[in-house]
Amino acid sequence: DAVLHLKGLKKSYNKGLVNEVNVLRGVDLTLTSGEIVALVAPSGAGKSTLLHIAGLLDVPDAGTVEIGGQLLSGKSDRRRTVSRRQDVGFIYQFHHLLPEFNALENIVLPQLANAVPRAKAEDRANELLQRVGIKERAAHRPAALSGGEQQRVAFCRALANSPRVLLADEPTGNLDPATSDQVFATLMQLVRETGLSALIATHNMELAARMDRILKLENGVLVPG
Ligand code: ADP
Ligand code: ADP
Repeated sequence: DAVLHLKGLKKSYNKGLVNEVNVLRGVDLTLTSGEIVALVAPSGAGKSTLLHIAGLLDVPDAGTVEIGGQLLSGKSDRRRTVSRRQDVGFIYQFHHLLPEFNALENIVLPQLANAVPRAKAEDRANELLQRVGIKERAAHRPAALSGGEQQRVAFCRALANSPRVLLADEPTGNLDPATSDQVFATLMQLVRETGLSALIATHNMELAARMDRILKLENGVLVPG
């Protein structure tokens, strides 16, 4: 069954102007439970636009977004924010951790935003840090962590609220090749163990080949890679 279902997504910028760009021209995608799909696209092809629409951060001009069988595109900003906080985990190329808070707190805070009690949120954060192998770094602020450790914390934050779907934009793109390989393996293991569905954008065909399926974003549509 479909965890994420995108149908007929269209998105243009600068509509009606000379610099109009039709970024998405009819994107269809079904992510089933536990499926990990690679999204491969050249820079400027519309990868971020697609991930933002799929993650309910942006709205399409046409088409629909369903998560967990619920139609969410076209719902109010408030309704989409609630769904995003519960159902979607985001990972970016840069960690975007809060610099003033330590690793543990960075994983606790999104849970507090979802009304999880602090003690429970801390248990969950510690468990996740253990699973990515950096439990002993819990009290360190991001600046005191290596790039690989920062991304591992970002993975834990993305999974903190047990989302249905993980959306990742070049999750290891900022790391050197050796670190990238290790950190990517950790991410794959975490996603597999959790049974999460994931759409992971990458330029790295070696990493893409380790996922269940490859889709390329070309001329505004998804084609099998
Ligand atoms: P990618 O993530 O694949 O690099 P984006 O989704 O960021 O691509 O952008 C796709 C195209 O849409 C690019 O040509 C970009 O310049 C354009 N674009 C993205 N966001 C906007 C915006 N807010 N206003 C105008 N053009 C935009
Ligand atoms: P909160 O208000 O609890 O910080 P939001 O509902 O604003 O959470 O965001 C939920 C998720 O979406 C977070 O993972 C956040 O990093 C991400 N997010 C929010 N706004 C943007 C944006 N403009 N671009 C990319 N990601 C965003």
